[in-house]
Amino acid sequence: MLNDPFTYQAGVLSCEGVALDSIATEFGTPTYVYAKHGILSRFSAYENALSGLPHRICYSVKANSNLAILAVLAKQGAGFDIVSGGELFRVIQAGGDPRSVVFSGVGKTPEEIRFALEQRIHSFNCESESEIEWISKIATELGQTASIAIRVNPDVDAVTHPYISTGLREHKFGVDIHAAEATYTRAAQLPGLAIEGVSCHIGSQLLDPDPLLQAAGKVIELVKRLRALNLPIRYLDLGGGLGVPYRPGDRAAPVNTFIERLRPKLEGLNLTLMLEPGRSVVAESGVLLARVLLVKRNGEKNFVIVDAAMNDLIRPALYQAHHEIVPVRQCGHESHFRADVVGPVCETGDFFARGRELPAVKPGDLLAIRTAGAYGFVLSSNYNSRPRPCEVLVDGNDVHIARRREQFADLIRGESA
Ligand SMILES: *Cc1c(COP(=O)(O)O)cnc(C)c1O
Repeated sequence: MLNDPFTYQAGVLSCEGVALDSIATEFGTPTYVYAKHGILSRFSAYENALSGLPHRICYSVKANSNLAILAVLAKQGAGFDIVSGGELFRVIQAGGDPRSVVFSGVGKTPEEIRFALEQRIHSFNCESESEIEWISKIATELGQTASIAIRVNPDVDAVTHPYISTGLREHKFGVDIHAAEATYTRAAQLPGLAIEGVSCHIGSQLLDPDPLLQAAGKVIELVKRLRALNLPIRYLDLGGGLGVPYRPGDRAAPVNTFIERLRPKLEGLNLTLMLEPGRSVVAESGVLLARVLLVKRNGEKNFVIVDAAMNDLIRPALYQAHHEIVPVRQCGHESHFRADVVGPVCETGDFFARGRELPAVKPGDLLAIRTAGAYGFVLSSNYNSRPRPCEVLVDGNDVHIARRREQFADLIRGESA
């Protein structure tokens, strides 16, 4: 078990060495608070588990793309998995090395492909023959050889929420594993390409690594068939997907358990293993700090209305996701009640918890919405013309502003009447 970066110290929930109430006082609420060492320890868990295996860990930028977090991971030697030109721009701005970047995604534009080639990224994970043709054409124009992998769909059921399951044949992602050899053979005839990899990504929030291992087995068999066709496959990219415990009872398989079960499958294959973890690197090291605005009762129901809303953290509304919600100050909450925790946005879907047993909070109290480091801020919006929250990165006893709170002026930037 890795240490929880958020612990109560003298009755106050703290991130590393900093009490969250002091962060609320200094930076206001709502605010995302991230723990630098929590993120590093989770990234290191991958590095440690993979020692002795040729590998490259490409942090999936879409989980949390704040520059401060990308910079921390870049300094630690992480590669990056991107799904847009904008994410490549962020990686470069954060000091990441483009040569460690893999470009995934089902719909890359010609402009994005050109930008990525100009920046000399490591490789493209391709999801269709038309995309491969585009890359071939643009690489040829630039006089380059683009390294590509084809993302195959291993037809494994990831048994997760339907919106984050991606590995079934019916999904839009990847190329059907049964059609893959034909796709590889056609790609091998195109100029400007080095066809060196096989990739897959079957879904997200997998607490049980069995589906990932099953997919790995199928993809390894494909690698052998491709090599038999004289395709020099060097890279095996198994994507991301390991889950994190959102509920107290959730048991997520530790990274090293997964890798130890994977290791024998890779023996003697002379493949570089690539992984693209996102959620499992950052989720547990973030909270959304919010303040209770008011508590009200409608009929039989209690509502705790906080100053954060679905525009700040949409996971409960989008995926029916569970987030633990805990008081920042432990004392003074001897009694409990059952309540919906909701934001001020004009949508019934604007909730963080429904019918949740909570300490009897009152207006002004601070709450921490836990496990919000992944797919939190990145999915935020300005809905209801709400400025997006502040983000801070805690490093021991220091607090760094990773993104200042938006002002009203930010809301209309680029608009004209
Ligand atoms: C989203 C995504 C990831 C990261 O998934 P996590 O579940 O956050 O680890 C990795 N690879 C690809 C291609 C993705 O789309």
